[in-house]
Amino acid sequence: MNDSLAPDALALHRGLVTLDTHIDIPWPPGPEPFQDGPRKVDMPKMRRGGLSAGCFVAYVPQAARSPAGEDAAFARAIAMLDHINAMGRTENNITARVASSAGAIEAAKRDGVLAIVPCVENGFAIGTDLSRLAEFRARGARYLTLTHNGHNALADSCNPRRDLGDRDSEHGGLSPIGVRAIAELNLLGIMVDVAHTSRDTMMQAAEASRTPIVSTHSCVSALCDHSRNMTDWQLDIVRDVGGVIQITAVSAFLKPNAKPEDVSTADFADHLDYAVKRIGIDHVGISSDFDGGGWFKDWKDAGDCANITIELARRGYDRGALEKLWGGNFIRVMRVVEEAAR
Ligand SMILES: [Zn+2]
Repeated sequence: MNDSLAPDALALHRGLVTLDTHIDIPWPPGPEPFQDGPRKVDMPKMRRGGLSAGCFVAYVPQAARSPAGEDAAFARAIAMLDHINAMGRTENNITARVASSAGAIEAAKRDGVLAIVPCVENGFAIGTDLSRLAEFRARGARYLTLTHNGHNALADSCNPRRDLGDRDSEHGGLSPIGVRAIAELNLLGIMVDVAHTSRDTMMQAAEASRTPIVSTHSCVSALCDHSRNMTDWQLDIVRDVGGVIQITAVSAFLKPNAKPEDVSTADFADHLDYAVKRIGIDHVGISSDFDGGGWFKDWKDAGDCANITIELARRGYDRGALEKLWGGNFIRVMRVVEEAAR
């Protein structure tokens, strides 16, 4: 970022609650999160980039669906959530706090501390045992991505895993267990994330969930035809249920077959613009997928977050709009989901 170019946008950026809704962590545990190291997101980079909050995910890769495989997936998710919770501490003169509610994320910003929001990616982490969802919630988890690459017991993925024997569709969307999982997620106050799901799964999840669904890291098909992106009719569903799509920094979702070096904040902002024009400013947000494959040339790591604000301010987004895009919309859905929980 160049501080001299856009001082107003920078000052504005520093004042916002900025939430990146999808950040992976190295596993097994990698470089120290409180040192400015090789991770794309660590606490010093969050500070430097004016990123006040992040959804850190316990990501479980899809594997064969044997009881042993499911137990291992659950054990990994729990270990990762415990690790994410342990990031709530003070070290190297930086304080981070686990923030598992909309109010806690806002309070962390007021208190000048970083907010860590634990989440889980891939419903495979529960196998077929719905009681495991409460274990995630007990560790602060605020969303569950229903699938990753590959179908699981809950739902079909947008990317079937041929190596695991997946056909194009296994359940035709959600399975009966998947429907029950969504009911349980609603009761627990865990958001339903449809990134990575098939289009049928997404549509059925929007219908089955009592609260708005979210896509925590996807882009739009109209600008880049990719299985992970949302078509116009999917965007319309997101709006109709009051949900949100968090445009993400994965180069291949932003421009067909692009490498990160070939993608800029302008390309990223084009996807945001498109979604905002299609479904309105209240249903769009920002995510990076850092340390999980996301980055591009002027958003290389969390230290560069202000570049996004500078580009959007240049395009005419005012403070209120930037607030919504940078987390306000996602936090609104989070609050709705909290209030609907038992
Ligand atoms: Zn993902």
